[in-house]
Amino acid sequence: MDEPLYLRPTVDPPIGALLADRQFLCSLVDALGSPLNVLLPETVAENAARFRAVYRRHHLTGRVHFAHKANRSSALVRRLAAEDPAAVGIDVASLEELRHALASGFTGDRIMATGPKDTAFLWLAARVGATVNLDSRGELERLSRLVRRHGLGRVAVLVRLSGFESDAAHGGAGARLLSRRSRFGTPVRDAHALMADLERDADAVEFVGAAYHLDTTAVEEKARALEQCVLFLDECRTRGLTPRAVDIGGGFGVGYVAEAAEWERWTTALSEAVLGVRPPLTWRGHGYGLRNEGGTVRGAAALYPAHRPTAGPGYLDELLSRPAPALGRPPATLLLEHLHDLHIEPGRALVDQCGLSLARVLDVRPADPDSGHHLVHLAMNAGDMSLEEHGVLVDPVLLPRGEAAAGDGEPVGVYLTGNLCLEGDLLTRRLVFLPRLPRAGDLLAFVNTAGYAMDFRAHHAQRHPLARTVAVERRGGSWHWCPDEDYWPAGPDEEGTAPPAPPGVRPAPDAGPLPAPSGT
Ligand SMILES: *Cc1c(COP(=O)(O)O)cnc(C)c1O
Repeated sequence: MDEPLYLRPTVDPPIGALLADRQFLCSLVDALGSPLNVLLPETVAENAARFRAVYRRHHLTGRVHFAHKANRSSALVRRLAAEDPAAVGIDVASLEELRHALASGFTGDRIMATGPKDTAFLWLAARVGATVNLDSRGELERLSRLVRRHGLGRVAVLVRLSGFESDAAHGGAGARLLSRRSRFGTPVRDAHALMADLERDADAVEFVGAAYHLDTTAVEEKARALEQCVLFLDECRTRGLTPRAVDIGGGFGVGYVAEAAEWERWTTALSEAVLGVRPPLTWRGHGYGLRNEGGTVRGAAALYPAHRPTAGPGYLDELLSRPAPALGRPPATLLLEHLHDLHIEPGRALVDQCGLSLARVLDVRPADPDSGHHLVHLAMNAGDMSLEEHGVLVDPVLLPRGEAAAGDGEPVGVYLTGNLCLEGDLLTRRLVFLPRLPRAGDLLAFVNTAGYAMDFRAHHAQRHPLARTVAVERRGGSWHWCPDEDYWPAGPDEEGTAPPAPPGVRPAPDAGPLPAPSGT
C-alpha cells in the first residue's frame, strides 16, 4: 500500500456538524436520490458579514455583490436579499439571473448587470434601475439608443476596463501589458474614446465609475488595475464627468485544502510521478499540464491553488492594505481620498463553506490487479460535481452507512468513477486516498461545492436526473431541510404570536418523506 497522500478539505463548524449527522444525510439521499446538493443559507450571510467587516476596518462604503453565476440556488439568493440593502447586492450575468434576483427580493438599485448583454437583458436592467456594468463601447451605444427609444430614465453605468498597462496612464515610456488579455471589457488603450462616448451619451446614461474583473489570484496585478481605475476616474473628473465608484470584481478565492503540508506533499509527488520516479498518482498518468521532457518537468500545472494562506475576506483585506505599485499608497487610502465607493463581486468566496454534494457508492471493485487500488463507482458524474473541471483537487469525506466504526479498515487508494458509460467519466483523475475502502450504500460528501461545482455543469446525459438541491439549517438541536425552491427568509411559523425567528429554513408542508430529525 502506498503512503496515503491525502488532500483533506477545510471543514468549518457548520459543515462539520452536518457531516457528523450521518443519519440525517443518509436519510436525505434515501428520500431524494443521489446525487444530492445540500446548501447552508446562513453561511452565505455570515460570509457577506465577513466581507463587510473588511469594509468597516478600512472605513469604505459600497456593496458586496454576489456573483450569481457561481450557483443557481434560490435559497442563497433569497437569504442575501434579506441582508442590509445598502451593503449587499447581486451581480447578474444573464436575463434569467436578473429575473431570478428580482423574484428573490432584490430591488433594481441593488443589482449589477455584468458580462456581454443582449437587448432584452439590457432593457430589463434599464427598466428596473439596475446598474449596467458596460462590457464594451458598442454596448454603451446600444443601451443609449434603447433608453432614448423607450423613454427610460437615465441608467447608472460602470465601464469595465481590461488590458491594464504599467505606464500608459502616467506618461512612462513604452506601455507594458501587465494583465492577461481578456475578451471582456474595454481595453485601457481605448479609454479616451470611451470618455468621449460617455460625454456624448450623458442624456441616456449616468456614468458612476470604473470596473474590472481579473481571472487571477495575483494581488499585485489587481492592485495595479485598481490604481489605474482610480487614475482613469481622475481624468474623467477633469473632463467634467462625476464618477464615484470602483468595482474590483471577484476572484477572492477559497482555501479548499485544510493543510499546507498535504498540498505541498501532493504537488511534489505529482512532479515525481510525471518524472517516473514514483508510481502514477493519476488515472493513466495524467499530468495536469506537467510533462517529462528528458528528465525535466516542463509545463505549468493547471491546478487551482487549493491550499490558500489568505482567501476570501482576508484576500480583500490584503489587496486594500498593501501599497499599490505606482502611487505607493494602499488602495484603501486611494479610495477614501477620492471618496469612491468600493464594489466587489465575489462568487466562489461568498459561497465558501455553503454547501456540499452527496453521492451514493454503487459498487466497489479492484482496479488493475497488482496496484492494490480500487474503482469506486458513484451515482453521480463529472457534470454533477465539477471541482476537477476548475482544477480544484480535494478529497471527499467518507460517510459510512450503518455502524461501521471510523477506525475500521485501513487507508486505500481509489479512483472515483461516474455513472456515465464513458471511459473518461471520472469525478477526478486523481488517485484519491480514503481512510478505508467504502462499501456499496456508503456516501461520499464533496465539501465546498457551492461555488461552480454543484450545478454549473450539470446535464441530463443518459437521462440521469439532475441533482436535487435542499437548504438546511440547524434549529433547536436538529437539522431541518426544505427544497431549495421552497426556502424563504421568512416562513409561515412567524405569523403566530411567537417572536419572529431569525431568517432560516422553513420546512415546506409538502417536503416529502421527512427524514426523522436527529439530535434532540
Ligand atoms: C465570474 C465573475 C465574478 C465572480 O468570480 P469569482 O472568482 O467566483 O469570485 C465576478 N465578476 C464577474 C464579472 C465575473 O464574470
